[in-house]
Amino acid sequence: MKIIVANNIGFCFGVSRAIKIAESTLASKNNVYSLGPIIHNPQAVDELSRKGLKLLKQLPEKFDRNTTIILRTHGLTAQLQQKLSRAPVNLVDTTCPFVCRAQEIVKKLSREKYQIILLGDKKHPEVESLVSYGNRQTLVVNSLAEVKKISPGKKLAFLSQTTQSRQLFEQIARYLKKKNPGVKIFNTICQSSANRQEEAVKIARNVDLLLVVGGKNSANTRRLVRVASRFGPVKQIENYRELKDKWLKNIQTLGIISGASTPKKIIHNLIQHLQNKIKNTKIIPVAKLG
Ligand code: SF4
Repeated sequence: MKIIVANNIGFCFGVSRAIKIAESTLASKNNVYSLGPIIHNPQAVDELSRKGLKLLKQLPEKFDRNTTIILRTHGLTAQLQQKLSRAPVNLVDTTCPFVCRAQEIVKKLSREKYQIILLGDKKHPEVESLVSYGNRQTLVVNSLAEVKKISPGKKLAFLSQTTQSRQLFEQIARYLKKKNPGVKIFNTICQSSANRQEEAVKIARNVDLLLVVGGKNSANTRRLVRVASRFGPVKQIENYRELKDKWLKNIQTLGIISGASTPKKIIHNLIQHLQNKIKNTKIIPVAKLG
């Protein structure tokens, strides 16, 4: 079996930065909490909890002395951020700089009274955070069909959750430009997400099955699955233990890519598992796909 492993595996810039900040905080402080998982990968979160990180599902009324709260990569809502800034705790912010950039854009557009259309998953924490900085005219959409139902205002702006599909973003941007040539377009999809989507498509076109490795709760991993599924069979797993033998039947070329919050170790374990299980596996670099 040939195995094509993506270049884009392991943590993206934002996740790697967040993990480093969390680890150095845990090394120097006690009573360290995160409000919700700081990233969307259960294995990486478990690793941090073994180092002492405790997970808070919601903000408690009272805090222990010397409590430190790590703020997640996806950002918090404006209301929660405000509440926390008044609480007697040390705050350590790991919000990804690309998410911060999108927040700043929404704040500015909101002040300038733009009608803001945001491409995203309504219930994702990043989108909830962005919406909280928006004005009453801020709308979240997930498809071109939804955008077509909106009557676009004169002052119109369009941006995206950082992990959305670039193709869908461009499609909606073209539509809005036709409706309102003055629309302000901000491509806030981060480069890491865009690169992974592009690579997932490239690999899916050339393999019998693509394995996308990442947390079930990870938006960017689910996006890779959705984008690549248009070009070939795709399965999402969190680690090699979820791999089913029947999937590998008659597979001659297998592709592997990961979400932005999947530790590299999980991919290496998967490759090792495949090599132990299947004779004559050969790893092919993506560059060879042309
Ligand atoms: S996927 Fe992009 S926006 Fe999200 S944490 Fe990584 S670099 Fe930041």
